[in-house]
Amino acid sequence: TVTAGVVAVQGDVSEHADAIRAAARAHDEEADVREIRHAGIVPECDLLLVPGGESTTISRFLHREEIAPEIAAHVDAGKPVLATCAGLIVLSSDANDDRVETLDLLDVSVERNAFGRQKDSFEAPLDVTGLDDPFHAVFIRAPLIDDVGEAEVLAEWDGRPVAVQQGPVVGTSFHPELTTDHRLHGLAFFEHVTA
Ligand code: GLN
Repeated sequence: TVTAGVVAVQGDVSEHADAIRAAARAHDEEADVREIRHAGIVPECDLLLVPGGESTTISRFLHREEIAPEIAAHVDAGKPVLATCAGLIVLSSDANDDRVETLDLLDVSVERNAFGRQKDSFEAPLDVTGLDDPFHAVFIRAPLIDDVGEAEVLAEWDGRPVAVQQGPVVGTSFHPELTTDHRLHGLAFFEHVTA
């Protein structure tokens, strides 16, 4: 059994928990999912999920509760993290917004609420490195990844990176928890090859 932690300040916590359990089962594993609302839980987790929501709120919460350094230690130890939408913004090296204190664990710079500005949300099939068939991605006021430093691009939409990986950290500008397809959680958590 693996212990999975989901940052639970806002966002689709139960959907992510379900997706993690399903992805674990698909890999002959079992996941014990814990909600992270205070320090002390992250060090017990094998894998971490930072969901969407508002990156200002989430980053403030992670610093105030002193969870941010625990996440950095988790990544340092080579353990997987999946960060989606606002989670990606929080883990980035630069959110181009003073209200977001980024964790600088994923070397990308992002622009908040910039993807698909004309429509607040949209859906698209994506070719993702490591997945055999397209992944149906749901974008909701998604961040635009405008610079990919050390990170590797796993998927693009309209010529723009929308899924990236750096070491044990995978970030998506879309919401992989909103469909019944759990392959992205599987890829980030159970097919991850640690350095
Ligand atoms: N717009 C949010 C932000 O910039 C992210 C949106 C989301 O997580 N769906 O923080």
